[in-house]
Amino acid sequence: MEILKNEPLSRHTFYGVGGLADEFYKVDDAESFAELWAETIQAKIPRLILGKGSNLLCSDAGFRGRVFSLEFDKITWDIPSPFRKGGKKGGFFVTVESGKNFQAFIEETNKQGFEDLCNLSGIPGNVGAFVRGNAGAFGSETKDFIKSVEFLDESGNLKTFNREECQFGYRESVFKSHPDWCVIKSTFELHQKADPESSLKKTRNLLAERWRKYPPGRSGGSFFKNPSPLGGDAPSKAEGLFAGKLLEEAGAKGDTIGHAQVSEKHANFILNLEGKAKQSEIIELARKWKKIVFEKFGVTLEPEIFICDERGGKITL
Ligand SMILES: Cc1cc2nc3c(=O)[nH]c(=O)nc-3n(C[C@H](O)[C@H](O)[C@H](O)COP(=O)(O)OP(=O)(O)OC[C@H]3O[C@@H](n4cnc5c(N)ncnc54)[C@H](O)[C@@H]3O)c2cc1C
Repeated sequence: MEILKNEPLSRHTFYGVGGLADEFYKVDDAESFAELWAETIQAKIPRLILGKGSNLLCSDAGFRGRVFSLEFDKITWDIPSPFRKGGKKGGFFVTVESGKNFQAFIEETNKQGFEDLCNLSGIPGNVGAFVRGNAGAFGSETKDFIKSVEFLDESGNLKTFNREECQFGYRESVFKSHPDWCVIKSTFELHQKADPESSLKKTRNLLAERWRKYPPGRSGGSFFKNPSPLGGDAPSKAEGLFAGKLLEEAGAKGDTIGHAQVSEKHANFILNLEGKAKQSEIIELARKWKKIVFEKFGVTLEPEIFICDERGGKITL
């Protein structure tokens, strides 16, 4: 395992924000990680798990501890399962380690003749983070395909949860509420058989379409979650409570603090202009519009992005 000292986090996040991390571990083997993980927690060393850094806003002061960049990415197929139970048609299972880029994973499933995951095409990030945050788009969520998840608990024990135990919700899971747990690998159940070539084409078309729609510039994706009037899952279209819509109606588009700017194209994207924004500027802008939206509509916006302090704590708005 390679360990880098004083590694700039700005190099590892989509936002391009973040100072030097004291220690940056490139974790390329899932098996040997358990001991290091448990020892880090027991010694109370600040820690941060890093996927692709597409949903993370790090501190300009960097990180006073260990950053674990998960790079293990093996895939194991269990093809014959559908006809096991007396010929009854079920799913095919594939287990994938957390460091696998989700887009590359979708394309591998396409090549095996499955198109279940196509709708998740174009969302940046790794499998582990997709599971932790139940990433989703186009009416599909990661949870829809999950059979089970293996994770390390705070003592370094490898445990398995089935889908129900993962307590998935809109951009939520049990792993999000337990920052001392690390998702190691996940088993997906796939059903939709398709021609490899056409499903790969579908995936790549969606990828291109999605990236055409994202506002240009550096960001961490949607800054705020869509609020639910019931405090539960994401709102339906009929309820109309979309963070982007509320922010746009409040007049957020184009507002700028320092080098942080609310995108002109999508009010729920806060951009890092010219790669020069500070974490504090992005936070100030987000706090400003959270307050205005509350005053105007009585709705409390909560960040979807993990805003991290220099010891791995969550900064709230
Ligand atoms: C342009 C753009 C568009 C986006 N569009 C969408 C969208 O349509 N839908 C959507 O859902 N999201 C979207 N996102 C957000 C992002 O793609 C997802 O949240 C994705 O799952 C993050 O993956 P990552 O590997 O980059 O995670 P990171 O940003 O590296 O990490 C995110 C959080 O997960 C934690 N984490 C990472 N791996 C693990 C693990 N194995 N175990 C436990 N914790 C872990 C990290 O510590 C951090 O708190 C978008 C982001 C961008 C930049």
